[in-house]
Parts: sequence; C-alpha cells; structure tokens
Amino acid sequence: MRIWKLVGMALVCLALLAGCGFTGEQKQETVAAPEPAKQVEMAVPKNGVPVLMYHMIGVDPADPHNQACLTEENFRKQMKFLKDNDFHPITMEQLYEYMAYNKPVPVRPVVLTFDDGYPDTYSIVMPVMKEYGFACTVFIPTYDADQSTRLTWQQIKEMQAAGMEIASHGYHHERVNEMGGNTLEAEIQKSQAELKEHLGITNEYFCYPYGGYNPAAAKVLKQFGIKLAFTMDPGWAKYGDNPYAVKRIWIGNEVDIDNFRQRVTTEKYEQR
Ligand SMILES: [Zn+2]
Repeated sequence: MRIWKLVGMALVCLALLAGCGFTGEQKQETVAAPEPAKQVEMAVPKNGVPVLMYHMIGVDPADPHNQACLTEENFRKQMKFLKDNDFHPITMEQLYEYMAYNKPVPVRPVVLTFDDGYPDTYSIVMPVMKEYGFACTVFIPTYDADQSTRLTWQQIKEMQAAGMEIASHGYHHERVNEMGGNTLEAEIQKSQAELKEHLGITNEYFCYPYGGYNPAAAKVLKQFGIKLAFTMDPGWAKYGDNPYAVKRIWIGNEVDIDNFRQRVTTEKYEQR
C-alpha cells in the first residue's frame, strides 16, 4: 500500500511540475513580442520619382519678391503635407539604385534637394528634417563655405551628422558647360577634394550650377566618381534616364499647397 502512496505522490509532483512548466510557457507566450517596426511598403515607381528643387527658405533680403525663395510658412506646410500623406523622402543612393537598376523604393517616394548652401538650410531646414525624419540632400558650391553669406563648414558638418547628405554644386558655382579642359577638371576636382577634406566623404552626386550641362561636363564628372548629376530641366526622374541629366521639379513661392500636391503626384502639373 505504501508503495502506491509514494507512486501517487510522485505522480502529483510530476503533474504540478508539468503544470508549472505549462504556465511558464504560457506566460512567455503572453508576454507581448516587441512591436514590429512599421514596415514601409516598397515598390518600383511606375511613373518615376519627383526630385524637388529648393533654394533659399525665408525671405531674400536682397529681393523680397525673389520667386526662387520660399517662405518658411510655405515650406513647413509642404513638409507637413508630405508627412500627413505618407510620402517617403528617399536618399540619393535609393534614387540611384532605382534609376540605374529599377530597384524598388519606399512607396510615394520623393527626393528633397536644397541648392547653394544658404544659412537657412541649417537654421530652418535641418530642424524640420529632424522632426519628420526626412532624408534630403544639400548641394554646396564648396568655395562659398565660410564666406559670410553662406554656410560655414562647422554648420555643414552638423548637418552631415544630422543625416543630411552633402554633395557638390561645383567649386565656384559657375556654369560647367561653358568651361573647357583644365578649367572644367579643376572645378570638379577642387570641389571633390574639399568635400573629402572637410567631411571625409567620397562624393558621388553633383548639381549643375544654373542647370547648365553638356556631354563634356558629364564625362569629367564620371571620371571624378559622380554617379548622378542634377539639372533644372522639369520632369520626374525615371529608370533608364541619363544619370548625368537628372530632371527636377521647381519649388518656389508661387507653388501653393494645391499646386505642390500636383507636383508630387503627377508629372503633368499645372505650370506656375
Ligand atoms: Zn545654384
């Protein structure tokens, strides 16, 4: 009889242990797995990508009616529109992979570019990019850095550290399509060297000053490691386009929010 009692007790103990194990497992299962990071849907853009071209943000002290200059209010409205409507500002590398290899990018892609290196790119644009977590690229004529009217290298470094891509807008901000031979080479070489020296980057992106380009300039850019060069020709950037003549969409003060919506949703937007 005693032996059966012992066997019985042993069975009860085993059952309890098994029970413990079970609840432990159950507990583990009910501990919520960490929320998966919001997956951004990826797709190959059927109609291309709008590359938006910004210049000065704020008010141009030299010309309050300068249409290339966008008020801070309008700029903020546009960035809020992109955020509220789930657009995804993509990087230069993502744009390149799409244009060269037709690779997918986040849906509703847009590229944000800021030309010339104005101080407001640091004081106004950078905080907004940080707030929304947007990728963007700043095209700098490197000769102008540390001149009193433009960004300092210190500010440019801070922008780089904040995740803004810094790229070349030439050295002197002069038309490369009107330069020949050595002058053209020196212009590109100096700009690449200064970006390397101050920011430690091997720059791969270029923006043509005043939008002027030609095959000779493209050839030199390629020699200096440039993969994409941006014009001021209107239109969206598409797979298979000439990477040394990337089109962009003008943004100025005449672009109200409805016209802005058109510019980021269709290539056939109403001209202003
Ligand atoms: Zn420029």
